[in-house]
Amino acid sequence: MQTREFFSKIGGKRISVIGAERSGIAAAQLIRIKGGLPFVSDKGSAEKLLGKTTILKSLEIDYEVGVHSERVFDAEFIVVSPGVPSNSAVVKRAVELKIPVISEVEFAYGFAEGKIISITGTNGKTTVASLIEHLLFVCGLHPIAAGNIGYTFSQAVMTGNSDIFYALETSSFQLDHTINFKPAVAAILNITPDHLNRYQDTMQLYVESKYKIFKNMTEADLLIVNADDSYLAQEKLHTYARILFFSLKAIPDNGAGVADGKMIFKENGETIFEFAINQLLLKGKHNVANVMAAVLCVLPFIKDQTLLAAGLRTFAGVEHRIELVKQVNGVKYYNDSKATNVDSVYVALESFEEPLYLILGGQDKGNDYSVIENLVVRKVNKIYAIGDSAEKVFKYFHQLVKTEIKPSIEEVVIAANNEARAGEVVLLSPACASFDMFENFEHRGRMFKEAVEKISG
Ligand code: ADP
Repeated sequence: MQTREFFSKIGGKRISVIGAERSGIAAAQLIRIKGGLPFVSDKGSAEKLLGKTTILKSLEIDYEVGVHSERVFDAEFIVVSPGVPSNSAVVKRAVELKIPVISEVEFAYGFAEGKIISITGTNGKTTVASLIEHLLFVCGLHPIAAGNIGYTFSQAVMTGNSDIFYALETSSFQLDHTINFKPAVAAILNITPDHLNRYQDTMQLYVESKYKIFKNMTEADLLIVNADDSYLAQEKLHTYARILFFSLKAIPDNGAGVADGKMIFKENGETIFEFAINQLLLKGKHNVANVMAAVLCVLPFIKDQTLLAAGLRTFAGVEHRIELVKQVNGVKYYNDSKATNVDSVYVALESFEEPLYLILGGQDKGNDYSVIENLVVRKVNKIYAIGDSAEKVFKYFHQLVKTEIKPSIEEVVIAANNEARAGEVVLLSPACASFDMFENFEHRGRMFKEAVEKISG
C-alpha cells in the first residue's frame, strides 16, 4: 500500500491525470507546482473540451483528448477525476498493470496542511460545508470551502497553511479512490439511494464508498453521524474515531438533538450549547439536521459561543436549495433546482405549510415516486411536468393530483402566475438531473429565476 509520502514526493515523476474537467486541471497544476510531470488524458471530443485544452495549453501542461492512449500508463501513479467510474476501461487497465489509481482528493491530501473537515452524504453536503465555512469565519478562524464547491481541493492546498480549516465537500466518487485520506473531522449526513448507476445498482457498494471517509481515522479524530439513518447504526461504523450523533428523534448523550424548539448539544450527558430553531433563516427539518451536523463539526474549535450563535443567525442558505426567489402577487416562488433526487423533494415538500404548485421532471435517474406520493397528495395543488421524464411524471401522478405537461420552464411560470393564488407557493424541486434541457442544475435554477423576474416586471 502506497503511503501519503509516496503520493507527495513527486519531483521529476511522470503522473497521469484522467479527465480534463476542473479537478483534473487543478490536479495537473498541483503536480506541476510540486515538480512532477503531469499528463492529462480525456476521452471527450476536442470540440467539447476546447475551453479546457486552452487552459492546459496556457499552463504548458501536456495532454491528449479523444482517446486514452498507452502514454497514460507510463506513470508512477494515476489521478482520476470524480467523473470517471471505477469500472471504466482506463481504470481497469491501470489496475491490471498495478499502477496506483487515486482520486483528486487523495492526491491533494498529500499536500494539505491545516485541519480537514470532510462532509459526505447523499444530500446536504454543500449546505453543511458552506455553513461550516460561514461559522468558522464568523468566529475569526480561517476556513475555506473546497471539494465539490468553491475551489477544488487541489487549488485550495496550493495556498493553504497550517492555520487553515478545509470545509471539504467529499462525494462518494471522490472517496472511491482514496488510500491515506484522513480528515480530522468527518460527517456523514445521510445515505439514500442515488447514483446507483455508478455502483452497479447495489446499495452496498455506494454505502461502502461513503464509509471510506472514516477508515483511517484515529481516537484523536471526530466522526459526526446521523443517528436517524438506518445505514449509519453504530455497529456498522468500524472506526477508532470518537463518534458524535445527531438526531431529530432523540437527544444523544454525545451529540445533538431537538427539544422544546431548540437544538441541544451534549457532551457526556451535559448540555454544552443550545440554539432556538426559530432563529434560523433556513427552512425545513432537514436543515435542522444539517445545522446540528455543522455545529458538531466546528464546536471543538470555537472559543466564543456568542459568535457561533451570531453565525447561525446569519446563514441564509445556498443558492438553488429551497431558495426564495421572489413574491409576486402574494405567491412565493422557491428555487430548489438542486433537488435532483426524490429524497430532496421529500424534504422540500415537508418544509412548506402552504398549498404548493410543484415543478417536477427532467432527466430521470430511476426515480421511485412512491417516496413522495403521500406528501404530494396532501400538499400539492398541481404538478407541472417538464423535460424528458414529463410523461413518466404525468403517468404516475395525474390520477392523484392535477398534472399538466409543459414544454418549458418559462411556460410553467406563466401558467403558475395565472393559477396560483396569494398565500400559495410555486416550487421548482424537480427530482431529476437537468441535462435534458439545461447545462446543469445552476442553469435550470437561473432560468427559473429569470422567468419569475419576467412575470413580476
Ligand atoms: P449536496 O451537496 O449533497 O447535493 P445540497 O446542500 O446541495 O446537497 O442540497 C441538495 C438538495 O438536497 C437540495 O434540494 C436540498 O434542499 C436537499 N437537502 C439538503 N439537505 C438535506 C438533507 N439533510 N436531507 C435531504 N435533503 C436535503
